[in-house]
Amino acid sequence: MTEPERRSRLVVLAGPTAVGKGTVAAAVRESHPEVWISVSATTRKPRPGEINGVHYWFVSDEEFDRMIAEEDLLEWAVVHKAARYGTPRQPVDLALASGRPAMLEIDLQGARQVRETMPDALFVFLAPPSWEELVRRLVGRGTETEEERERRLETAREELAAEPEFDVTIVNHEVHAAAEQLVTLMTVGEERPPLA
Ligand code: 5GP
Repeated sequence: MTEPERRSRLVVLAGPTAVGKGTVAAAVRESHPEVWISVSATTRKPRPGEINGVHYWFVSDEEFDRMIAEEDLLEWAVVHKAARYGTPRQPVDLALASGRPAMLEIDLQGARQVRETMPDALFVFLAPPSWEELVRRLVGRGTETEEERERRLETAREELAAEPEFDVTIVNHEVHAAAEQLVTLMTVGEERPPLA
């Protein structure tokens, strides 16, 4: 991990498709329940095993339009030219007001929007050990069609090039190690004072 100059109560985790952002977020959720993790809204259909309100808020296009119109979203983006994803604003404000460390797991376009509105957040790039490993993880997941996979790889190539925009890079060699590194970046209690 590149050494950060500061820590922040709000961490924004981004990185290329299939790098394991969701898995790392799940590991943080399990080992550090004190960390609040945003549940995004999406117009994508649930995959088998995904639960509304846990993995995502699965909403209709009309509902998503309404959320945009009422400025309910902190950021939103069309991801992989396929569906819209966005971060409900109020839960983030409430988590931060309560003093809990908080985390958003979003795509690069979303991270850039949050950078504009919440510049004090810490922007963390989750990187794959190598391009070959990223392709292997994407194929191994087996949840996308060939066409979707090609589209996601194209996006991933562009996303990898954005790494220098981030405050910190964590290489996802192993999910639990990456999760621990992530939690270390949040200002959690007295025993972890801010670096700066
Ligand atoms: P998936 O459909 O595989 O769950 O997620 C696809 C992509 O959407 C991932 O790169 C994920 O980080 C991104 N994503 C999930 N939630 C949000 C969100 O609230 N905002 C943005 N901008 N991207 C999101």
